[in-house]
Amino acid sequence: MNTNARGSLIRPLPLPASASRPVVTPLSPSVAYASDTPDALDAQYEGRVQGYTYSREGHPNADVVAARLDAMEGVRGGIVTGSGMAAVTATLLGLLQAGDHVIGGNQLYGRSLRLMTDDLPRLGIATSLGDPCDVEAIRALIRPQTRLLLIEAVSNPTLRVADIDGLAALCREAGILLAVDNTFTTPRGFQPFAHGADIVLHSITKLLAGHSDVMLGYVAARDPDLAERLRVFSISTGLSPSPFDCWLAERGLLSFDLRFDRAQATAARLADHLATLPGVTRVIYPQRTDHPDHARARALLGDQGCNMVSFELTGGRAAANAFARAAEGLSFAPTLGDVGTTLSHPASSSHRGLTPQNRAALGLSEGFFRISVGLEEPEALMRILTDAVAAATSVTG
Ligand SMILES: *Cc1c(COP(=O)(O)O)cnc(C)c1O
Repeated sequence: MNTNARGSLIRPLPLPASASRPVVTPLSPSVAYASDTPDALDAQYEGRVQGYTYSREGHPNADVVAARLDAMEGVRGGIVTGSGMAAVTATLLGLLQAGDHVIGGNQLYGRSLRLMTDDLPRLGIATSLGDPCDVEAIRALIRPQTRLLLIEAVSNPTLRVADIDGLAALCREAGILLAVDNTFTTPRGFQPFAHGADIVLHSITKLLAGHSDVMLGYVAARDPDLAERLRVFSISTGLSPSPFDCWLAERGLLSFDLRFDRAQATAARLADHLATLPGVTRVIYPQRTDHPDHARARALLGDQGCNMVSFELTGGRAAANAFARAAEGLSFAPTLGDVGTTLSHPASSSHRGLTPQNRAALGLSEGFFRISVGLEEPEALMRILTDAVAAATSVTG
């Protein structure tokens, strides 16, 4: 190439020639994509050729992640968004309008609940919340204006398993869209489209990316018209993801299956171990026969118990403090799905806004903890939990 002829031009820089290809998806941070001619741009906008224009509207790193998740969920045309909440926002605000009514599971992710109860009414969209384990309770909330039901397959942190087959039948009968937030269960644990969901969404931030270093979401619709509405809404409202985040998420996804299998195998062992410890009054794990929804968990999740275990200690806040202090090496942090095990205490974090009575109704005492099991050696985790539970019980005497 003749650099003299280019004078002081800045772009585009020529890429070094290579007859071979990279094995890793290249990171494409370019905001804009140059076309040859106005005719070429027409062809792109009219869909006759595939091409990128401006990265808010789409870029290769987002499309690579979306294609992987589409394959895992068994759908086409899903989109990646800048966070899990952006995917929730696209679902609710992109598909509903003033005058509509939406129903949510009463134990949805806390921010989803706040969006539904604090923001949707301001925009003229009415919200009701109900127990997704009880189809008749949800049926009783349906109005002529009801357009959508948003649920999670397994609730946080009490790990109740929704009656998805019953709810899907109800939604079909009533002409309501069923949207499932599949963050907890992941497509390896549960495939909502195969159970009648119309929309599936994720916080990629959690198990799918898996390393607590990237925040992204995903949403897909079975109906191509709905998928297109989600895509256009997310572009217009700027919910688009960054190329670097997508690139990191793709890297995380490469090991997702292995991480998930390992974490849930360890979770099952930890659940059984916790149940043997004096001072632990209750262990919640869907694959245990003492779980209130055990039969439904077997039917919906098969042998996939997922990586979350909840349990309750005797004693109040003092015992909880002693447990968290003694659980050395486990991060006491408000997330889940990391390669490292994390511990959450709903009464002081996700559910602190509830009255003690409302927390008690959900079974969330001061002694209630949720563990997101990571990839540590199971024996090491069992030792840590044994010691931490012993430290907690010594406080209560
Ligand atoms: C974390 C989470 C979200 C929100 O995702 P962000 O990526 O944090 O915005 C939504 N739903 C569930 C179930 C979550 O755990």
